[in-house]
Amino acid sequence: MKPQPLPYTAQDLRRTFKRALAKKGIDAVLDQLTPEVVARLSCHQVTRILFELDEEKYECSKSLNTSANDNNGPIHKRMNTLEAKQKAVNLGAAMNPDVRAEYRRLQKIVAHEADNQRGHVWRGPRDKLEQRMGRAFDTLVYDHTDFFRLHTALTRASDDTLRDAGMLPLGFFWTERLKYAMFPPLKPLEKRITLHMPDPEDENYFSVGLSKFHTDVLEAIAVLPPFISRFLEEFGYDINLAERLGHIDPDYATNHMTSDGRSFEDSAKGVHSDSTSIIDLPLFFVKQIEGQMETLDAHTCNDDLQMTLTHEALHGVDRQLGYFSKNSRDMARAYQRDLTSLRDMDLDPYEKRAIAYFRPVNDGGKHESAIVAKSEAFAEIGAELALGMFDDAITPYFSSSAQVTGVVIETLRFVYTHCPNGFVMLDPSLLTGRSKSNYASPLAPSSLKLA
Ligand SMILES: [Zn+2]
Repeated sequence: MKPQPLPYTAQDLRRTFKRALAKKGIDAVLDQLTPEVVARLSCHQVTRILFELDEEKYECSKSLNTSANDNNGPIHKRMNTLEAKQKAVNLGAAMNPDVRAEYRRLQKIVAHEADNQRGHVWRGPRDKLEQRMGRAFDTLVYDHTDFFRLHTALTRASDDTLRDAGMLPLGFFWTERLKYAMFPPLKPLEKRITLHMPDPEDENYFSVGLSKFHTDVLEAIAVLPPFISRFLEEFGYDINLAERLGHIDPDYATNHMTSDGRSFEDSAKGVHSDSTSIIDLPLFFVKQIEGQMETLDAHTCNDDLQMTLTHEALHGVDRQLGYFSKNSRDMARAYQRDLTSLRDMDLDPYEKRAIAYFRPVNDGGKHESAIVAKSEAFAEIGAELALGMFDDAITPYFSSSAQVTGVVIETLRFVYTHCPNGFVMLDPSLLTGRSKSNYASPLAPSSLKLA
């Protein structure tokens, strides 16, 4: 089809598109899809075009799979066209004032309605929090399909953008963030740090230690990288401080034995609980030194506390990304490469001990399960990269895993900077000037903006 000269006014343009889309679908307007044109369409039209492009791409990929021996040339060509058009539409959507206004308008309405359910969601047993929130959220989705349809379209556009920039598409993480943005926790993070008195008899001794610990944790949180503290803030984490982990959750004391026969809680500096979004921090742990069991401070300085908090937060991130460390193929390959090269390395006993927690048993490590060892490596490397703390670091021993983990950390840093409140919003400068090639330094200031 030969491109026709386009109508000058937005109103005429929209009418032309409406007719064309109704008659022949997306193919009728494909040639016309430039950012400048898309920027002048209605929000409804932009959403529809984004969805139809996705469907077309899906159809295309299906025929690619089934016709492996045939001539795939035309299908590839079609796919390339669709992808180029999608980029143009993403950029156009970011520039479109109607999309922006409509997203804000609907967001306000939905958030206002969610507000009535907020108390109900957060009060009640902690281990049922996600169920209560899920139910309340499903009702919102059912009642406000136009907002969620638009949100999904913008989420996909954002993920395309992240992918193009060499970062990680966030997928369901967007939906999880949106849920918590709709039903924010009732209390701010600093009010969600609770002290556990392990033994009423010893209340004085421990309350002195614990209240000092409380202050230390508050100070550590205040200097965490903002994307880590924002994550803990918005996902409603509670932080439990106690003498020992076993006093918080007896299960850890009895069921988590490590290979050297000590219980897990004897040596852990912190625990992340998936089902309740609680992070447990112990005041001290027990260590065997020259045959004697000694009690040591779990965290001797602010850096230690920051490392533990960030490590545990990254277990939470891992989960919100659909267990990235377990399911990402890139991570699996990278971790395997690291394990292989560690086997050939001549490590001294100190080094072996230092990395044991991040290797499976059959590689001289502590964990029976390679999946658990890998998730620990992800959390620890991620914390070292996020904080830029490399004293006694394990990152040098896991250089391939560190590359994959580094992409996750940079994506989080980026997304929490540009979408601070869980809602997606595209900015006109979004797609300009950033591509894989200039994503060389993970710390380079970004020219990409999601506002
Ligand atoms: Zn861990």
